[in-house]
Amino acid sequence: MAEKTIGVLALQGDFREHAASLKAIGQEPVFVRRPHELDKVDALIVPGGESTAMWKLATTAEMFEPVRKRIADGMPVFGTCAGMIMLADRIVDAAAGQQTFGGLPITVRRNAFGRQTESFEEPISFDGVGELTGVFIRAPWVESVEEGVEVLARVTSGPATGRIVAVRQGNLLATSFHPELTADHRVHAFFVDVVRAA
Ligand code: GLN
Repeated sequence: MAEKTIGVLALQGDFREHAASLKAIGQEPVFVRRPHELDKVDALIVPGGESTAMWKLATTAEMFEPVRKRIADGMPVFGTCAGMIMLADRIVDAAAGQQTFGGLPITVRRNAFGRQTESFEEPISFDGVGELTGVFIRAPWVESVEEGVEVLARVTSGPATGRIVAVRQGNLLATSFHPELTADHRVHAFFVDVVRAA
């Protein structure tokens, strides 16, 4: 079977870092800004950044409905931080009117770790991947999951111990933290496996 094409939603946020992570594991990334570019990819990464800005830009670029439709049709998607928020069906502490692509029956809390803790690292134990360092930047956590959602990682130390920070349901994968900001590409490799199996 031909190699699958993984797009990186490049409207806002750290899409270049995701592209670099994919390249590092031998996967050629494609930036996606417009619907005709979305049509050409088999899977999508929704980067970290700012979910309200991403929502507005996706609407302006007429990408909102096309991405929703592809998710409903089963396209594999990996969202990090703001990208996790974009994949969540429900948000606590959303901006007024804020909408998400949705698809994951989870509730995420924006800026959950407190506004003063802008950025920090915590050890994470990731099911199927192993121990890794989670980089968190004004991150959400997953407040609750519906049945059928696999919890893949929780914070293992510090005041947020036990909080859910990685989930998967079928072809949708989301992390509160930013594997794309580290030299450890195992979570991207995990997603590539999900895409190949899809
Ligand atoms: N707090 C941001 C939001 O609500 C997410 C931060 C991030 O992606 N690093 O979108």
